[in-house]
Parts: sequence; C-alpha cells; structure tokens
Amino acid sequence: MKVSEFQRLIEDIYGDKDAARGTAGTYMWFAEEVGELSRALRRGDRAGLEGEFADVFAWLSTLASMHQIDLERVAADKYAEGCPRCSSTPCACAEPTPTHGTARGS
Ligand SMILES: [Mg+2]
Ligand SMILES: [Zn+2]
Repeated sequence: MKVSEFQRLIEDIYGDKDAARGTAGTYMWFAEEVGELSRALRRGDRAGLEGEFADVFAWLSTLASMHQIDLERVAADKYAEGCPRCSSTPCACAEPTPTHGTARGS
C-alpha cells in the first residue's frame, strides 16, 4: 500500500468523524498516540510498537487530509533529493538536525 493509498483509506474510515471533531481535538488524539508510541519505545514492547507506529501514522494522515495535504507528495518533495538542508544522502550537516531539515524555516 502506498502512502497516498493509506491516507485515502484513513479518510474513508474516519474522515467524517475527524471533520466533525475538528483540528484541535484531532491533534490531541494524535499527541496522545505519540505518547503511546513513546511508552512502547521505552518498554521495548515489539507488538505494542507496531500498533503504535500504525496509530501515529493514521492520526498524522488524517490531520494532513483535514488540511488538504498530500503526505506522499510533500514528503517526496522535501526529502527525495536527500537532506533538505545539505541536499546529501546521507546527511552531511555538521550537527545532527533533530528537526529534520526545518533549519530552512519550513
Ligand atoms: Mg495507540
Ligand atoms: Zn544535512
């Protein structure tokens, strides 16, 4: 399944509910799932990890859909040519960039 297909699937399953809930409430669910991912990472719980990665991706996808963002396209636009900051693969920036290329302000 491609990223765009997954995003559309999540729209089909949850789009109406997410639209009714709105951005703020949906973002809170997203943040809660990130917390669950953090807990699974901390615990080294393999089965839990798989589910939490899926949950975070699903909530990220729905937030993107709510804002007419095509995740597959924007991810490719920003990262297909390598690190957005130094344009290299692997990244050749002097320091790690925990914000994944946001140094350019985007
Ligand atoms: Mg979860
Ligand atoms: Zn770089």
